[in-house]
Parts: sequence; C-alpha cells; structure tokens
Amino acid sequence: MRVLITGAAGFLGSHLCDYCLKQGHEVIGMDNFITGNPKNLAHLAGNQNFSFIRHDVSNFIFVPAKIDLVLHFASPASPNPQSPYGYTNLPIQTMKAGAMGTHNALGVAKANQARFLLASTSEIYGDPLEHPQKESYYGHVNTMGIRAVYDEAKRFAESLTMAYHRFHGVDTRIVRIFNTYGPRMSLDDGRVVPNFLQQALRKEPLTIYGDGLQTRSFCYVSDLIRGIWKLAMSEEHMPVNIGNPVENTMIELAEAINRLTNNPAGVVYKAHDRVGDDPQQRRPDITRARTILDWEPEVSLEEGLLNTIPYFKQAMNHD
Ligand code: NAD
Ligand code: UDP
Repeated sequence: MRVLITGAAGFLGSHLCDYCLKQGHEVIGMDNFITGNPKNLAHLAGNQNFSFIRHDVSNFIFVPAKIDLVLHFASPASPNPQSPYGYTNLPIQTMKAGAMGTHNALGVAKANQARFLLASTSEIYGDPLEHPQKESYYGHVNTMGIRAVYDEAKRFAESLTMAYHRFHGVDTRIVRIFNTYGPRMSLDDGRVVPNFLQQALRKEPLTIYGDGLQTRSFCYVSDLIRGIWKLAMSEEHMPVNIGNPVENTMIELAEAINRLTNNPAGVVYKAHDRVGDDPQQRRPDITRARTILDWEPEVSLEEGLLNTIPYFKQAMNHD
C-alpha cells in the first residue's frame, strides 16, 4: 500500500511511519512542523519507500501519487499553556487542523478511494461524568472552555468522518487515543510525562498541577501503534478506544518517575497551574478493542518509562 501520514514529524506520526515502512508499505509523510520536528524523521533519509511533503493540511492537499490509506494525525496535542506547542497557544491552528485539515484529508481519501483513519482522542469525552469511558459515552465538554479548541475540533472531525462514510461511502476508521507516551515526544511538549522526565533527569522537583489526585491511564507508544494498525486493518467504522486501562494519579506517576530516575528532589505542588476543565479522571474501557481487534496493551508503565528515559537523556544532551 501507499500510505499518506499527516502529522508525520510528530511523536505518534513518526512511529507510524516506521511501523508502516517495516511492514513493506510505501509512506508519504506530511507535516508543517508546527509542533513536530524533522529530527523525528531523520533516520528515514535515503529510504526509497519514504518521501515527505512539507504542507499545512488546513490548505488543499495535493498528493502526486495514488494513495491507498490516509492516517490523519496532524494536530497540536498538548493542553499545556506553558508550552509553545500547547494547543491553547495555537487555538486557531488547532481548530483548523481538526476541521479544515480533516476535510482536506478526507478529500484525499475520497478522490483516491482510499481507506481513512482519524486520530481522535479521549478529550472528546471532556471532563467525563462516566468512568471508565466507553465509546457510547457522549462526553462532557465545555464549548467555551480553554480546552474546547481541541476537544470540539476533534468532535467535529469525528462527525465529518462519519458524514464522509455515510454520504460518500468513504471507508473510514476512528481511533480515540488515550494518553500515550514514549520516545520522540518533544522536549517542549508540556504534557506530563515529558515534563516529569526532564525535571527528574535534572534532579529537580516534579511539578504537580493541582493536588495531584487527578488520574490518567498511560499507554506506551508501541502498544498504541499496534492497536491503531489493527483498527486500520479491521472493518470497524465506529470509534474504538485505544489506551491502557491501568489508571494512576499524577502523584503516583511522579513517584514512579522519581524512583526510576533516582531523583531525590521529590515533588512541588503548583496549585494554580492546572488548566481549566482539566479532566479529574480518565480511563478507557477497552472492551471493544479487546473483542473487535483482539488487542490489549502489553507494556507496563514501569517498562515503558524505562524505555523512554534513555531517549530523554540523549535529547536533553543534544538540545
Ligand atoms: P505531536 O505534536 O508530536 O504531533 C502532531 C504533528 O502534527 C506535529 O508534527 C505537527 O507539526 C503536525 N501538525 C499539526 N498541525 C498541522 C497542520 N495544520 N498541517 C500539517 N501538520 C500539522 O503530537 P502527537 O502526540 O504525536 O499527536 C498526534 C495525533 O494524535 C494528534 O492528532 C493528536 O490529537 C492525537 N492524539 C495523541 C494523543 C497522545 O497521547 N499522544 C492522545 C490523543 C490523541
Ligand atoms: N500535569 C502536571 N504537571 C505537569 C504537566 C501536567 O501535574 O508538569 C497534569 C495535568 O494538570 C493533567 C495531567 O498531568 O492533570 C495530564 O496532563 P497532560 O498535559 O499530560 O495531558 P492531558 O491528559 O490533560 O491531555
């Protein structure tokens, strides 16, 4: 197959490029580097099966070859306003990537009679009133909130994807991704795992926003990519949660990272740095992924963090 991957220079996009190439597919990566980094693709230089187009997906997408599969991952993804990459600092770009970018990427799939997979998110559930979150939950999103630019863009993207499926017959898939971490997350990303790992490696206290009792469920990148590929190859058109159902408080995450990095500095509570509408709890119900895709995460938090630490050490030394 020839696969178009938007957001290819980002964390997940670059791992998807590697996964597709390893399976013998041809990959065209597309990115405008707004939060991504060409370094994430540097190892693919000279690969005959890989090419790259620098382009903002919010503008009409021209691809000079027949495409069989579109994996649409282009979008800022970090909620942290302290990061230059945080989507609250890129609000219009985020809404355009989710709305116009998804429209253009669906247009490529339609024109090529290609399969299309949308990278959606657990954020479409907002600050959830149902726990754990099943795909049938409609969500609890504040349209006026600081996070709404991302949440609502992804909700619109899901609806547009279903409209292209129902009205134009495009062969679509929707994955709702829950917190995923691993090598190639940007040092400037601002999400909790890159923040904590860098602080720990500098022997600084880890910055816990709020009281640290809010929860997330962290999935290692290799598990996520394997699940996404299974979904892409399945016949399932309705959304599927992919994530790790093991739930931790931010205090537990901080303790694990401090232990694995031998950081004696502990934690510091930053009560006011927690952004508005920050979900209090999040854990995927992965019954659908288990039954439809026969998929389960395999990498524990400890193992995943141990795989990620060397990347951050190296990236911090070369920054
Ligand atoms: P990332 O910031 O590392 O990657 C996003 C990539 O998209 C970057 O390379 C960026 O430059 C590119 N991009 C953004 N807007 C673009 C545009 N208009 N045109 C072209 N390229 C553009 O983030 P990530 O964690 O790899 O996230 C990738 C996708 O997965 C996003 O769609 C995100 O919403 C989704 N997602 C990620 C997670 C997670 O935990 N990592 C969770 C839920 C959803
Ligand atoms: N968080 C934190 N310290 C940080 C960064 C984030 O305590 O340095 C918290 C944040 O308030 C949230 C959780 O960690 O409750 C996960 O945040 P992240 O930015 O990783 O993504 P989210 O799951 O909110 O999209």
